[in-house]
Amino acid sequence: MTTIKLHNTKTRQKEVFEPIDPKNVRMYVCGPTVYDRAHLGNARPVVVFDVLYRLLRHVYGADHVTYARNFTDVDDKINATALSRKEAGAEGSLEDLIQERTNETISWYLEDMGALGAMEPNAAPRATQYIAEMIEMTQELIDTGHAYEAEGHVLFDVRSYENYGSLSGRSVDDMIAGARVEVAPYKRDLMDFVLWKPSSDDLPGWDSPWGRGRPGWHIECSAMTKALFGDKFDIHGGGLDLVFPHHDNEKAQSCCQAGEDSFANFWLHNEMLQVEGKKMSKSLGNFFTVHDLLEQGVPGEVIRFVFLSTHYRKPMDWTAKKATSAELKLVNFHNLIGMYADYSNADASKVSDEVIDALANDLNTHAALTHLDTLATQAKRFQGGASALQLAHDLKFLGLSSESFGDVPDSQWIDRGKLDRLEADLSLARETAMETKDFSEVDRLKTALLDAGVEVRMSKAGVELIAGPNFDSPKLEAL
Ligand SMILES: [Zn+2]
Repeated sequence: MTTIKLHNTKTRQKEVFEPIDPKNVRMYVCGPTVYDRAHLGNARPVVVFDVLYRLLRHVYGADHVTYARNFTDVDDKINATALSRKEAGAEGSLEDLIQERTNETISWYLEDMGALGAMEPNAAPRATQYIAEMIEMTQELIDTGHAYEAEGHVLFDVRSYENYGSLSGRSVDDMIAGARVEVAPYKRDLMDFVLWKPSSDDLPGWDSPWGRGRPGWHIECSAMTKALFGDKFDIHGGGLDLVFPHHDNEKAQSCCQAGEDSFANFWLHNEMLQVEGKKMSKSLGNFFTVHDLLEQGVPGEVIRFVFLSTHYRKPMDWTAKKATSAELKLVNFHNLIGMYADYSNADASKVSDEVIDALANDLNTHAALTHLDTLATQAKRFQGGASALQLAHDLKFLGLSSESFGDVPDSQWIDRGKLDRLEADLSLARETAMETKDFSEVDRLKTALLDAGVEVRMSKAGVELIAGPNFDSPKLEAL
């Protein structure tokens, strides 16, 4: 069996992954707060953990992996949107309007993430479905002296848990020095965080032993993993920005409730995303959603490919240039498969060992993509069906063979033989021009190729022609 190694935030090192029960590998990833469209940065963990999910399914069997990702549908931003709709004259109760907002956001989310080739998890629990479990866990934390009630709030007592902050590696005193924390008179310690808070009449609320109120954010993941997976499970994932405070708080709640050895064995965190070297922000004007990019005609597969080209523990820089070069590659791959193999025979279970080995090494997606290049070069050089078919298997496994992308228009189907001949012609013209100093033939060929949407790469090693996204086959006929 393939040995998977993963970097565990808990131990700060790469470790061999051994599931608690190989027949039931359990992974939980913190999902979105559903108040608006997902921005590009939100999509990174979705793609990263989708790749891990595919790897686990390959190694342990598709029926032996359970992937859960929650929807946070209790949140003040959702309430605010619903309230402003109500004030604008929308019909229905506030609860109805909240539900309407969360339902539409969830459907957008699934649609956008589906366009990125992400499989849907096996379970997608919503916070509102687990209020009773959250109340029960909160009560247990009070009963065992880890939480206390004050002015309608229930707070977790961080000083009651010796290992508080162990995930992010901060002590409570460091946190106080570095964090912007809400000062409240009812808190025993500045870092104590909310498990339950009171709701006013214009906010959604549930009855509880502490009055009508709603849960804090962190308790939902602890209550949902317990309900779905039990006290202990294999992998907990999320963005690096969640380590503190969200994941430190989840861990504190669960370990205080079920024992230090409980909760996730492995913690995985993906690094953040930037755009053209800058942090994505509305004020910089470089803020966009996945939907925006799809609307602009950037295929989901291209977004996914760009994401996979950077290791998940490194900051990812989204650039227009990367998107263009990813598109060129994918069009080239799909054309090679169209020429020399048959997409309908693509079978993800026949993925290359090289791709699996790369992913098993702490999800080295970059190395996996490099193997696709190798296969493409072989398919091109030997006009070989075996390499082209293997490329199809690998693309399918990696979630890079969406139906829409496979559907390349006729004008874009490449006569690879013709391009090979043109490569030879251009090489010869270049060699001749070096001697005669007359480059007119080289220029003529190059201009015509560029006009037909062919990228021309000339180096000491020779000439390479790559069909780009605007490839227009008929334009090559006269050459
Ligand atoms: Zn969470």
